[in-house]
Amino acid sequence: MDWREHGACRFEDPELFFPLGEGGLSLRQTEQARAVCHRCPVLRECRNWALRNREYDGVWGGMTARERRAVTGRGSGDRGR
Ligand code: SF4
Repeated sequence: MDWREHGACRFEDPELFFPLGEGGLSLRQTEQARAVCHRCPVLRECRNWALRNREYDGVWGGMTARERRAVTGRGSGDRGR
């Protein structure tokens, strides 16, 4: 996972990428995390890793857990943390 050393999130608060619940604050955190991902030079590597490894918590590669589940066919709904 050498690509992680180049992630735009390495200077961000990790909690931003793991929002709790589904309320307004969680949605704002998710959008802030996505904004970081969308300027990240390793977005593709990160997204592919999360999909390949069935990572179903948090924002990875600009995608939420719900979006990744939809892509991998695991169903919908974020797992509570
Ligand atoms: S795509 Fe997002 S979560 Fe993945 S390394 Fe980049 S900033 Fe971090």
